[in-house]
Amino acid sequence: MTRPNLHRIAVIPGDGIGKEVVPEGLRVLEAAAATFDCAFHFDHFDFASCDYYQQHGEMMPGDWKALIGGHDAIFFGAVGWPETVPDHVSLWGSLIQFRREFDQYVNLRPVRLMPGVPTPLAGRVPGDIDFYVVRENTEGEYSSIGGRIFPDTEREVVIQETVMTRVGVDRVLRYAFELAQRREKKHLTSATKSNGISITMPYWDERVAAMAADYPDVCWDKYHIDILTAHFVQHPDWFDVVVASNLFGDILSDLGPACTGTIGIAPAGNINPERRFPSLFEPVHGSAPDIAGQHIANPVGQIWAAALMLDHLGEGRAAAAVVRAIEDVLARPEYRTRDLGGEASTAECGKAIADAICV
Ligand code: ATP
Ligand code: MG
Repeated sequence: MTRPNLHRIAVIPGDGIGKEVVPEGLRVLEAAAATFDCAFHFDHFDFASCDYYQQHGEMMPGDWKALIGGHDAIFFGAVGWPETVPDHVSLWGSLIQFRREFDQYVNLRPVRLMPGVPTPLAGRVPGDIDFYVVRENTEGEYSSIGGRIFPDTEREVVIQETVMTRVGVDRVLRYAFELAQRREKKHLTSATKSNGISITMPYWDERVAAMAADYPDVCWDKYHIDILTAHFVQHPDWFDVVVASNLFGDILSDLGPACTGTIGIAPAGNINPERRFPSLFEPVHGSAPDIAGQHIANPVGQIWAAALMLDHLGEGRAAAAVVRAIEDVLARPEYRTRDLGGEASTAECGKAIADAICV
């Protein structure tokens, strides 16, 4: 008989340091399961990696959807090894396929200043910065609709269209409002540019206002993307949940983690909120060929991704405990990896976080 709180996870380490940090994420998930009375079944897959491509001439087997489509979530490392496979081939042959086929229409990134992580923002301390960026992940500015007219002539015209659908806009807004409603501050900020982009962005604004009527306890505001990026740097304490279209969300979800220090610690979720398909949880960083194989990669981004996954699976207490354990360990210099000025190995840092998990 299956236990109700058994979670089936497809584990895909991918390339480079993905293979080094994923085991640390699994170690922490095992520790969280032992403490919070849930259980994991991990199935390991070697596809969605450049090694697999070199052996098979493709990034994934033809039946990849059947292999992982029934899992509760995908725990992903990093993909890319440009020396052997161009980045657009590895990325489009793996992550983009997951995102599309599994309708992962929310890209979620927490932005939180952790102890022991130097921030480029002077005077900011942990506790000041703690918000989420919710990015629309399937449509908007990244539509691939358009083309060139009169190419290579003086009359050349290049057009690329933005596509917003009511379903597509509303579903990501609903996710963001629901998230804001669950949080203490209950504050939502929408990124717009309706003073310059005069058709799609006013529509986005309209849908935000309409959705807000369903969430009277959430206070909301909106900023044009240009001033919003300035506020991220100057007033990061203003934000709680920030929702944005695909392009604006792409920019904000890199700017946010950059404001809170190193790329090595930030996680991302590619989420299908209805759980019709598996969602994918990964660190923001890539495969880092320059440090791969040295066992010095920071595993915190991968471990934090595990926390996001726990939250998505309904294990909120375990998720919060993992984030607390990350904070406890980062506060102690002896467990910091080289990117944070320490000397700990990937495994030493991961094990310290697993050991720090408590109720
Ligand atoms: P992507 O593959 O997502 O496009 P990228 O190839 O541009 O990303 P990364 O692979 O993330 O970049 O590496 C960028 C820099 O950050 C590299 O110098 C890398 O060593 C460093 N870095 C990335 N992740 C980590 C980590 N977990 N720990 C320490 N350093 C890291
Ligand atoms: Mg890369």
